[in-house]
Amino acid sequence: MTDCFSQPGLLPFERAKALIIENLPSISQQEEVSIALAVGRIVAQQVHSPVNVPPHDNSAMDGYAFAQASVEQHHTLTLAGTAFAGAPYQGKVELGQAVRIMTGGKVPAGCDTVEMQENVELSRDEKSGVEQSGSVQPPQEQSLQKQASHITLKQSTRQGQHIRRCGEDIAVNQVLFAQGHQLTSADIGTLASIGVAKIAVFKPLTIALIATGDELKQPGEPLGDGDIFESNRYFLNAMLGKLPVKLIDFGVIPDDKEKLRAAFNEADLTADIIISSGGVSVGEADYTKEILQELGQIGFWKIAMKPGKPFAFGKLANSTFFGLPGNPVSALVTCYQLVVPALYKMMQADLPSRVQLPAKVATTLKKSPGRMDFQRGIWRLNDNGEVEVESTGAQGSGILTSIAKANCFILLAQDQGRVEQGETVTIELFDHLIS
Ligand code: AMP
Ligand code: MG
Repeated sequence: MTDCFSQPGLLPFERAKALIIENLPSISQQEEVSIALAVGRIVAQQVHSPVNVPPHDNSAMDGYAFAQASVEQHHTLTLAGTAFAGAPYQGKVELGQAVRIMTGGKVPAGCDTVEMQENVELSRDEKSGVEQSGSVQPPQEQSLQKQASHITLKQSTRQGQHIRRCGEDIAVNQVLFAQGHQLTSADIGTLASIGVAKIAVFKPLTIALIATGDELKQPGEPLGDGDIFESNRYFLNAMLGKLPVKLIDFGVIPDDKEKLRAAFNEADLTADIIISSGGVSVGEADYTKEILQELGQIGFWKIAMKPGKPFAFGKLANSTFFGLPGNPVSALVTCYQLVVPALYKMMQADLPSRVQLPAKVATTLKKSPGRMDFQRGIWRLNDNGEVEVESTGAQGSGILTSIAKANCFILLAQDQGRVEQGETVTIELFDHLIS
């Protein structure tokens, strides 16, 4: 690690983010998992397709297959057999012949065109004593199709129509996923479509979650005088639980030096990463700083961001440490903006892109120059189809509902002052980690 641990003054947000990213170890152990369990996991080795998808030309319609050359010569085609999905027509279809084909049925040798059944007239061989049938009548359709011996096309056809080509989705040897790609639900289907049953992914990072504070009571417990209900570990569990990580919950550690030391030591032995909240400012009961400096190399930063000024980053003997501020909004925003990108970097994965858009401000936004603001906003399309954003209201670092009501951050640069109604700002839409 470079010497990033003692930063005087307020550290600009982007600088803090870069310092963290530059000073992370990467965790590269791999494992093979069934694709059924691989959603959200990070691809550890490039995936090539071993097959063409689809593996053969097949029909996109229920209808009839034939050679386009046939219909240029013959008015009526003789039915030679059937090609159902999974039960191909064996043999070659000759000029003047057609085959009844179902959606997904393999296009037989000798055919290059499919016509849908609605555009075909069926007829029976005259030797059977039945007159030509005319258009298909729905009630008799099934039996007629079984009995028909000939088809006549009602309209002209184009060579190759209604055929899904071999390899048109995925070609054999095509690279499907690069290392570092996080697998989506759609990707799992795609892996199944190439016949891959197991995939090499990076092992989940282990993260120890620790909350600190004598005043913190659990939901469901009675509140004593001066107590509050703890919330940080709850949203951290909920948010980080959506990542391919293994969370180890260390609960709430009281503001007690020995207990904090024991908890951090144990977490360091168990986890790749420790995320604590609280105790990173300079209050009387903020022992975290003292203990962490004793146990490792930790920088206590004042980041020029709002919310989230006090933040700690560094390493213990075996693990990387992130110390979030205690105030819930600050903890959530710093975790999302600084820790999540760091986790992706450690997992050697690409951080899913976060959508930023220009938006017109519907109400005035209070702001003093000095820190970068991550105000919470609600964006919508206005009647003119423009992206518009309004504040969720009070932006205090303890007001968790300012995030719960929001659907985006309003990003206001460090030196930006108050924003007037109608001005344009940049918003960052919440992704599934917050929503
Ligand atoms: P601290 O950084 O420990 O001084 O905490 C700052 C503020 O955040 C205090 O008002 C704490 O009560 C509050 N706080 C700290 N940890 C939590 C937590 N896990 N859940 C909710 N509030 C917290
Ligand atoms: Mg505290």
